[in-house]
Amino acid sequence: MNMSEPSRFSTTGLRGEMRQAEFMQRHTSWRAGGVAARMYKPADLADLQVFLRSVSSDESLLAIGLGSNLLVRDGGFRGTVLMLHAALTELKLQDDGLIYVQAGVPGAKLARFTARHDMQGAEFFAGIPGTLGGMLAMNAGCYGSETWQHVVKVQVLTRSGELVERDPTEYETGYRSVELQSKWKVESGKLEDSDSPLPTHHFLEEFFVGAWLSFQPGDGKVAIENIKALLAKRIASQPLNLPNAGSVFRNPPGDHAARLIEQCGLKGMRIGGAQVSEKHANFIVNTGGATAADIESLIDEVRGTVAKQTGVQLHPEVKIVGEAA
Ligand SMILES: Cc1cc2nc3c(=O)[nH]c(=O)nc-3n(C[C@H](O)[C@H](O)[C@H](O)COP(=O)(O)OP(=O)(O)OC[C@H]3O[C@@H](n4cnc5c(N)ncnc54)[C@H](O)[C@@H]3O)c2cc1C
Repeated sequence: MNMSEPSRFSTTGLRGEMRQAEFMQRHTSWRAGGVAARMYKPADLADLQVFLRSVSSDESLLAIGLGSNLLVRDGGFRGTVLMLHAALTELKLQDDGLIYVQAGVPGAKLARFTARHDMQGAEFFAGIPGTLGGMLAMNAGCYGSETWQHVVKVQVLTRSGELVERDPTEYETGYRSVELQSKWKVESGKLEDSDSPLPTHHFLEEFFVGAWLSFQPGDGKVAIENIKALLAKRIASQPLNLPNAGSVFRNPPGDHAARLIEQCGLKGMRIGGAQVSEKHANFIVNTGGATAADIESLIDEVRGTVAKQTGVQLHPEVKIVGEAA
């Protein structure tokens, strides 16, 4: 795919920025992967609605936040990536005590905001380096807390640009999984994980643009101390000095993926520039110049070895999209 300069679409009423041939390694925490044919950076929610109304109905779309749970294969994504984090940034405490937060707001900002407003329960968001949109899509969580425990209502945008509010009862939520109970899967269309054959088409039906969250009143100073303790724990246990995407595999019921991977002697295993972290066995780090194929091959190798040696099938938590080179 050819690179070209960013172009603006003001003539069609759009206020955001359309980029061609965007390197997705700039937008994913693994710092690896292929090129997106197009990337749209909306100016705001209204602009995103205009974009969706104007985009052709057969265009593949992929909503992303900070790319902290995402691998784009080296052959790239033949569609438009919707980059939400710079546009959907509203965060406010309402009179009814609920927090309205748009999809682009990072977890760390949400955690600090709630602490400043003397609430507790949002501290866990501080250690998750994604946006609210990504956390809603993944039901992200840690240390016993999950995103959807705090959701009162979500706001989604449909493919045709319609803004819809949905109740949590409309979703089936579980450990790192969220599905709309009716006809659509809330996985940015047909995002597949590594269990699936090569994905070729991504038909985004709807995606999250915001949510109303509730937290317990509490002592903000205690919340700040909790955040500090939680971040220190992460620095001590995770390889944060090298590009990674957090935990690669979901924990199997009653066990830990990291424990199984370590037990199989896979810590430190390498393929190209990708390596199973020596510090945390459920992390794969990019030691420099890793391709998406290096990372995906290592994921497959780890799964295969763990299945063979322990009989446990690990399932990737990270989302893998696009086409092989
Ligand atoms: C160092 C590190 C530590 C981590 N620790 C944790 C942890 O403790 N717990 C945890 O759960 N995760 C953790 N993660 C993984 C990751 O941060 C979370 O999954 C996070 O929720 C991803 O958010 P994001 O905005 O980066 O999403 P992205 O990576 O951009 O996208 C992830 C998926 O969500 C979809 N998506 C993104 N935005 C939207 C939207 N608005 N609407 C619909 N779909 C959307 C994407 O299409 C993709 O399928 C960690 C990652 C790193 C790098």
